[in-house]
Amino acid sequence: MSVPAARRLWAIVPAAGRGERFAYAASPSIPKQYALLRGKSVLEWSLRALLTESRIQGIVVVLAAGDERWSEIARNLDSAKLLTTIGGAHRQDSVLNGLAYLAPSVQADDWILVHDAARPCLRGSDIGALIDALENIPSGAAGGLGGAVLAAPIVDTVRRELANGLETVDRAGLWRALTPQVFGYAQLRQALEDAAANGLTVSDEAQALERLGIRAALVPGSPFNIKVTRAEDL
Ligand code: C5P
Repeated sequence: MSVPAARRLWAIVPAAGRGERFAYAASPSIPKQYALLRGKSVLEWSLRALLTESRIQGIVVVLAAGDERWSEIARNLDSAKLLTTIGGAHRQDSVLNGLAYLAPSVQADDWILVHDAARPCLRGSDIGALIDALENIPSGAAGGLGGAVLAAPIVDTVRRELANGLETVDRAGLWRALTPQVFGYAQLRQALEDAAANGLTVSDEAQALERLGIRAALVPGSPFNIKVTRAEDL
């Protein structure tokens, strides 16, 4: 299956975080996307996964200002699909900068796939399933279904802390939202700009779109597509 020619697909990889929850024994000041896993950085693994998907036209890697580690990855990967721009204070600002960078190249309803640099275990089959799911999403709808996100069902018992103890939360219908997440260019940009204008921090793209009444299809993906957050995740 292929994405209809009219709606091309681009990727944005926010990689401008400083990884403040990540104390990496080998080098305490290194951002998590540059920690090494089997000899390659977390970011390089994430990009290698995306580069296997031929339907992605180009990949904008959003870097921190003054990033001195990127050039080695660019050399290793040696792909004309890789583009770079500079990120902002929060993840959502970095994604917005990626969208602004793409503006001259994209159509309003081109698909934008956002994938965290810190998720190096993404499988090619999951990217494929996510992109295949876009075939069923109508173009230009103001509300309703407007994108797709990879997700994994919650299998553990979930408890919520209360002032005087714990309660067990019914886990039926609960999912972990992963990345990649894919939405139309104009809708994603509008949603993130609207969140920013209202001073709201969103933790992923789907949350920003939900505020505008646009839902994402959940595409079941591997539970091993974890976000490296703490050193032990490596
Ligand atoms: O910190 P968190 O785990 O939410 O980061 C998720 C992704 O967003 C990481 O790949 C990180 O590099 C990126 N990020 C960014 N710009 C920021 C903060 C985080 O690109 N200002």
